[in-house]
Amino acid sequence: MEPHITLGPGSAKRSFPFQGDETLEFIPLGAGNEVGRSCCLLKFKGKTIMFDCGAHPGYRGEESLPFFDEVDAESIDLLLVTHFHVDHAASVPYFLTKTTFKGKVYMTYPTLAICKLVWSDFIKVSGISEQYGGSLYTEKDIQETVNKIICIDYHQEVEVEGVKFWCYNAGHVLGACMFIVQIAGVRLLYTGDYSRQEDRHLMAAEMPSVQVHVLVVESTYGVQTHEPRRSREKRFLEAVVSTLQLGGRVLLPVFAIGRAQELLLLLDEYWRKNPELHRYPIICLSGMAKRCIASYQTYINQMNNRIRHLNDIENPFEFRHIRYMTTMAEFQDNCPCVVMASPGMLQNGPSRDLFDRWCEYRHNSVVITGYCVQNTLAKELLDAQPATHTLQDGKEVPLKIRVHYISFSAHADFIQTSQFIDELRPSHIVLVHGEANMMASLKKQLVSKYEHMGVGVWSPQNTENVTLTFHESKVAKVVGSLAVERPKTGGSLHGVVLHKNFQLTIVGVDEMGAHAGLEVSHLIQRQSIPFHQPWDVLRFHLSKLFDSISGRCSSYFLLPFLLIYEPQTAINMIQLEWASNPVNDLVADSVLSVVLQVRHSCWECSTLLTNPYRL
Ligand SMILES: [Zn+2]
Ligand SMILES: [Zn+2]
Repeated sequence: MEPHITLGPGSAKRSFPFQGDETLEFIPLGAGNEVGRSCCLLKFKGKTIMFDCGAHPGYRGEESLPFFDEVDAESIDLLLVTHFHVDHAASVPYFLTKTTFKGKVYMTYPTLAICKLVWSDFIKVSGISEQYGGSLYTEKDIQETVNKIICIDYHQEVEVEGVKFWCYNAGHVLGACMFIVQIAGVRLLYTGDYSRQEDRHLMAAEMPSVQVHVLVVESTYGVQTHEPRRSREKRFLEAVVSTLQLGGRVLLPVFAIGRAQELLLLLDEYWRKNPELHRYPIICLSGMAKRCIASYQTYINQMNNRIRHLNDIENPFEFRHIRYMTTMAEFQDNCPCVVMASPGMLQNGPSRDLFDRWCEYRHNSVVITGYCVQNTLAKELLDAQPATHTLQDGKEVPLKIRVHYISFSAHADFIQTSQFIDELRPSHIVLVHGEANMMASLKKQLVSKYEHMGVGVWSPQNTENVTLTFHESKVAKVVGSLAVERPKTGGSLHGVVLHKNFQLTIVGVDEMGAHAGLEVSHLIQRQSIPFHQPWDVLRFHLSKLFDSISGRCSSYFLLPFLLIYEPQTAINMIQLEWASNPVNDLVADSVLSVVLQVRHSCWECSTLLTNPYRL
């Protein structure tokens, strides 16, 4: 027999089953069939959680924001930010200072440390073009934002009004995490960007050890598989060294933090081993890359064993062969060299300036190492391989520079994603963070692999709602004197069901103070109605309706919980009095209805003599 709860006194029993349908909604406000401006909503049980709050690198100004208009910012309880990349975090200061959002914001310690640098840089880069309305926020807004953020460690469990969440190391970049959110026993894992492959300094993403019902996973690389690390490092070094030996310049457009440090570790180590290369300078043209080194040194304990062992001997991020420069004016372009400059997709700034300067010469190389989003020059170079290039001043020039694409992108590929799903075995998979064609091919593969197991796969567009239904088993904890004897299947308990933070507790009415800190109050309702009919007529009609009119006192009839005061001859008013609760209110309503009918219906008096009282 299905367990059930019984509510209410005596004849007013009300039962409901412990099982019910629960609807969970998932809505991308960004990263739906695109890469850029990651921002997704989870709505369940009256709670709303936002994952990530990024900006699209391919757009400017408000165009780069997620679709914030589609949501009431004030209704969002939590914002969980997975990592510091622009497409996941750049809109956080905007959302916290320019909307009605009042919830809490969580991220890891290294993510916050580096976000401060990224946000400042975002202001500088996006503020360049006044035609797009300048930057989305100010340094003052950043400071206000930083003060509101709560930092957490990996695996630290946090509970906010019944919503539990914690995070795991996601690989990808320093501080990156994936969040598990648990509401009323249902768990959703949002991976953000993750990589299951260890690299030169980061660990591979962890495998959560708990059952997950909904997996929201990035699909950046669709069904592609990555080149093995050794092979890609070899190709990268060959491209760099061969260009230098031909007297050319090597441009490495990268976002200043993340993959940049991985490439600097690789180059510095290679230069150490090859003294003949020391005549070629390696320049990191980024103030932000220099400033983030302090955070990298602080959080070495969150990196892999290799880098921690190196750190026992000397700090691996104190590079011997890398020169930092903060402005183009410091850079003397007078010999073959390697220059790392941001942004990674050649949209504007130093990397674009150098590309414009070097693109006409065939002995130069540009090595693109990261993922490139639509609407950027780097993406155009890879997809269209154009013969000419329009400089930032509008002049068109022949495009001779050699373009290499060697991915160091720390995102999961198809093999990693499949293995991750095989181990995790979720009931539902929602794909985000992938261009439409990549996502479609991944979805097709996943459907053919998992559909027969009943696993649903979704790939929503931005603002499209994925609705999932859960048949949830509810468990109520019995406490106090009701718990002295073990509840029996099919038996019933009489008590009060308390619902707090999605947990049910059953407690005796008298023990609510001790077990729930609640005080019991009684609300007495009293109603007066003008009444001019003979009193016995009303008594007769009530006795037809109720069995339990238990006796007659001098001034009232007594139901178990309802008093009816006889009208005093001088006043001609009848009074009802009862302890208010949903059941008693219902009975009082029906008594009132009888009173009103009798008050207006004299012919009923004729039945008085032919029917006995039922006392
Ligand atoms: Zn990322
Ligand atoms: Zn991303």
